[in-house]
Amino acid sequence: MEKAAAHSRILELRTILEENSRLYYVDNAPRMSDYEYDQLMHELEALEADFPEFASDDSPTRKVGSDLEGGFVQRAHRYPMLSLANTYSIEEVEEFSARADKALDTSFSYCCELKFDGTAICLTYRKGKLVQALTRGDGVVGDDVTRNALRISNIPRQLKGDYPEEFEIRGEVLMPYEAFDHLNELRTLDDEQPFANPRNAASGSLKLQNPDEVAGRGLWCTLYHIPAQSLDFESHDQALRAAASWGLPVSEHRRLCHDIKEIKEYIDYWDVKRKELPFATDGVVIKINEMACQRALGYTSKSPRWAVAYKFKAEQALTPILSIDYQVGRTGAITPVANLEPVLLSGTIVKRATLVNEDQMRQLDIHEGDSVYVEKGGEIIPKITAVEPSLRKAGARLPDFPSVCPDCGTPLVREEDEAKWFCPNSDGCPMQIKGELLHFCSRKAMDILAGEATVDQLFTLGLARTPADLYDLSLHQLMALEGWREKSAMRFRDSLEKSREVPFERVLFALGIRYVGETTAKTVARFFGDIDSLKAASEEQLKEVPDVGDVCAASIYSYFRDEAHLEQIRRLRSHGLRFGVGEAADKLSDALAGKSIVISGTFSISRDDMKALIEKHGGKNSGSISSKTSFLLAGEKPGPEKLRKCEQLGVPVMGEEAFLALLPESAGLSAQNDKVEQLSLF
Ligand SMILES: [Zn+2]
Repeated sequence: MEKAAAHSRILELRTILEENSRLYYVDNAPRMSDYEYDQLMHELEALEADFPEFASDDSPTRKVGSDLEGGFVQRAHRYPMLSLANTYSIEEVEEFSARADKALDTSFSYCCELKFDGTAICLTYRKGKLVQALTRGDGVVGDDVTRNALRISNIPRQLKGDYPEEFEIRGEVLMPYEAFDHLNELRTLDDEQPFANPRNAASGSLKLQNPDEVAGRGLWCTLYHIPAQSLDFESHDQALRAAASWGLPVSEHRRLCHDIKEIKEYIDYWDVKRKELPFATDGVVIKINEMACQRALGYTSKSPRWAVAYKFKAEQALTPILSIDYQVGRTGAITPVANLEPVLLSGTIVKRATLVNEDQMRQLDIHEGDSVYVEKGGEIIPKITAVEPSLRKAGARLPDFPSVCPDCGTPLVREEDEAKWFCPNSDGCPMQIKGELLHFCSRKAMDILAGEATVDQLFTLGLARTPADLYDLSLHQLMALEGWREKSAMRFRDSLEKSREVPFERVLFALGIRYVGETTAKTVARFFGDIDSLKAASEEQLKEVPDVGDVCAASIYSYFRDEAHLEQIRRLRSHGLRFGVGEAADKLSDALAGKSIVISGTFSISRDDMKALIEKHGGKNSGSISSKTSFLLAGEKPGPEKLRKCEQLGVPVMGEEAFLALLPESAGLSAQNDKVEQLSLF
């Protein structure tokens, strides 16, 4: 093949493969067969071998799944990233303005801007080039997401015009509604949990390990703050004008106001007008414009005194109820959910809203066919807040709250102190069984790749009724499922494999004991240390745990008095799940016993695998370097801050090869060997 033709074919293949890799690994919606994919990959490999001048580190041939799974290097912010004081009350904005009037004995103005609902980012440009992008992190230290920021279409890599030698600029990364809806549609289709709101989607996407995926997420950036220490300007507005002239994305929706009356006009205008914007905003930020005045006002420990954020009240919509469903949760609780005439709310179409419980329905005085006000906070499920009585149809009936379970027909019960009706058939009610499986697999619990459709499929075919059943499924059984392929079965099995490393507190949460939420599971796990001590605890002992009240203690106690639950725990235990704090699921050696290790950079295996490896050999992972750190395990491109700290404290730095030599018989690569074994099955 001629050189030019080879080059264009290489570029074409990379695009096709990247797109399909994204569809496969991220969106879980492959459009070509594994075979076709592999053929194209081979063709690309061959071309790159024949024409090495076109090789690139960005090529899909150089990227292997596990390499991209590492975390991010953390770096200190040069100037701490503070948050703004928030208020929902216009009176407090008036007070803010009055305080400024009093404190400043010169004339000044306010710069009013939209408050974008995304995730904060801090960019550093040097000689006109983007050299660093950090997330807010904890305000002092942020994650280095530079590679990802470079793939956000409106963040310039290179500035134009008369830009300064070096400066920092801050802003927000957003996901426009359209991209958000598209992403969630794909996720729902693929049995993945949709993102709750565009903000979560934006921050999740900014933290993706693969920059190519970030590029496909349709993120968008808007910048609004140059730290005063970074560059010298007379006013905030002047700084933003300058930034815009260098090609940086700055919102044009800001306005200079001179008094509280103008500020209120700006707020009122955008409270309505923002509904037409293509992205989420949740308020208005009011900043004192003159830098000299900002300096005079200074900062509190948490936020600047020269700025305040006014947040809009949740948006409302009025729409008729079409029908009411009664959903059965995993605990058997019955939740009434209204099906609504679809209506646009905060940029997304709302079709359903919760009515919470029977009392709430009665309190709202819901009648069939009523038109209701729907509100949406940051949550995905909107709430019904009121009925519009003027739109009620004559003779409208009160809805009948069911007396039997809509799923299994068992008569519902309601205990005196409960707000909800329950289906008591916990061992036989399909919705409850599926609900428990789903809860077990959820991200905050065991993080197993099984969504509603998968659980439904496994349950309906009689393949899984309890969590332990999932671990008994063979690859052949999985691949025989309709719509499943080799790769999806393997990914499912991999996630089960990984779940064996999930710490005890999350396993406890996953068991789905009533009243034991994420936080309670954590405290209970730490208090008792392992499942046997917890099982042996009396109700009195359980009540000694902070945050565990009478009801929760009784629930935990009775959970462990049920033979079916004990059997379930026995089976899960035999599958290698962790039932004790700090318990290593499969300890390989004590080679690293007593060692506190910090890792940094990238390795031949993913960072998660590396951490697991350390634990398997008795070592402890630590996030930050102190005088107690035994050594820093440095891969490629370790964080410079960490290296500096090691030098300061005299902590040794060790490379991957030297580290692996510490372990007996290169046991280190067991994680990889497992994968090879699985692959060779086919
Ligand atoms: Zn039922």
